[in-house]
Amino acid sequence: MNRRELLRSAVLATGAVTLGSALPGGIISAAPVQAGGATASSTGATYVLPPLGYAFDALEPYIDKATMEIHYGKHHAAYVAALNKAVAGQAALKGKSAEELLVGLDQVPEEIRTTVRNNAGGHVNHSFFWKSLKKNDSGSAAAPAAGSALAKAIADTFGDHAKFYEAFDKAATGVFGSGWAWLVVKADKALAIVSTPNQDNPIMNGHKPLLGLDVWEHAYYLKHQNKRKDYVDAFANVIDWDAVDKRYELAVS
Ligand code: MN
Repeated sequence: MNRRELLRSAVLATGAVTLGSALPGGIISAAPVQAGGATASSTGATYVLPPLGYAFDALEPYIDKATMEIHYGKHHAAYVAALNKAVAGQAALKGKSAEELLVGLDQVPEEIRTTVRNNAGGHVNHSFFWKSLKKNDSGSAAAPAAGSALAKAIADTFGDHAKFYEAFDKAATGVFGSGWAWLVVKADKALAIVSTPNQDNPIMNGHKPLLGLDVWEHAYYLKHQNKRKDYVDAFANVIDWDAVDKRYELAVS
């Protein structure tokens, strides 16, 4: 199935593709379909797979086409489907974005709480991840624009960009099992590198994510097998630092 067919099937499955909206902190919202919309009322589906925004092979050779096809079209789609299934018939959760579910898990009925945590997290994290990546034909690793607020904050916090990435690399390769490594803004507006297990998102800890790297094996195993560090190094080439910088400016404003 090519991307066009994939998107069409997503549209057919849900009735519409809802574009995300930016929440404070720059998180790309995996927003629910508007109340009263034909989609929600006709199919019951609330959360939809957002458009990828580029071709599956756009990130080659750093992230391969086959991984992108499966990661987006199978894994992310499965989180969306499982989340919709979990919240179906839950009137109290109606209209909540996936982010709102994650930060308000105590309001989610206990019998579906873990399912919602895992699948709302999977949906939010992957929607955010796709928007953090960008084609790179330059042959050199991407970096924040010199003189940008983020470049300065990274230099102030970590010494320089190379030292930042070294620390990020260490966090990403150090995640035991499945999870994510993140660059976040903490409540005091300081930058920090953190990791989360499974599909947890830093917003669950009061942090604002700027950049996240999926280190589940499904994100890299086809190309890199057990060599996670090779994948973390390759990721450095396709980071969309303009997007990350915009998130930073929102997070500290
Ligand atoms: Mn993933």
